[in-house]
Amino acid sequence: MLKIHSIETFWTHEWPWIRVVVFMQWCKLKCLYCHNPDSINMSGWIEITKEEIIKKVKQSKAYFGKKWWITFSGWECLLQAKELLPLFEELKRLEYHIAIDTNWFIYNNDVEKLLWFTDLVLLDIKHLYDENHKKLTGVSNENILKFANHIEKINKLFWIRHVLVPWYTDDEKHLFDLWSYFKDFKNLERLEILPYHTIWVYKWRELWMSYWLEWVKTPTNEELMKAKTILEKNIEKVFIRR
Ligand code: SF4
Repeated sequence: MLKIHSIETFWTHEWPWIRVVVFMQWCKLKCLYCHNPDSINMSGWIEITKEEIIKKVKQSKAYFGKKWWITFSGWECLLQAKELLPLFEELKRLEYHIAIDTNWFIYNNDVEKLLWFTDLVLLDIKHLYDENHKKLTGVSNENILKFANHIEKINKLFWIRHVLVPWYTDDEKHLFDLWSYFKDFKNLERLEILPYHTIWVYKWRELWMSYWLEWVKTPTNEELMKAKTILEKNIEKVFIRR
């Protein structure tokens, strides 16, 4: 049984293709700017079987033409890697393109097996410097960088997603160091800059949780373009995803 937040069967934004997106429940990070604080904990989830997901996915096949795409996102999908394995196996048998959107904090044998069936990894890198990563997310980035190196080693195609948060992740040295770190990764296909937003702050208020970044503004176009210019020195395919 899988614990999910929701399923979108016609997801057209944020992704380069029309996709089914399964949003899994639960995350071990505590990002200061989390857009879904309601789903960090294992509560309020929907329980669903592999068969029910396959049924939903098949019902949406009409949109897709010849290629069928699905993404497992979160919060953090890999926390349920063991439960996802039979589903991935079945989706691959049905010739789906499978992507996982992950902060890659967790790694175990089940995750390794899941990678066999995964076509594309969308890897969230919150901050390159460990101390800053801890401040932003509550955890070290040691495992995350270790596993970024692992997917490069096993030749798995991946994208990096980086949230540009003014005052936290946008200084020139950090951006330069971050992408210098990844510039020789041959399997890095694309790098996306995601502008920090405040549209979900209301969720924190509704949950009576303190939102510490209330004073931080969404980066301006100028700031986004500046970050893109720095990153493009090292990596060809840099995009701003709004
Ligand atoms: S990794 Fe994503 S889901 Fe988890 S706390 Fe951070 S923003 Fe929220």
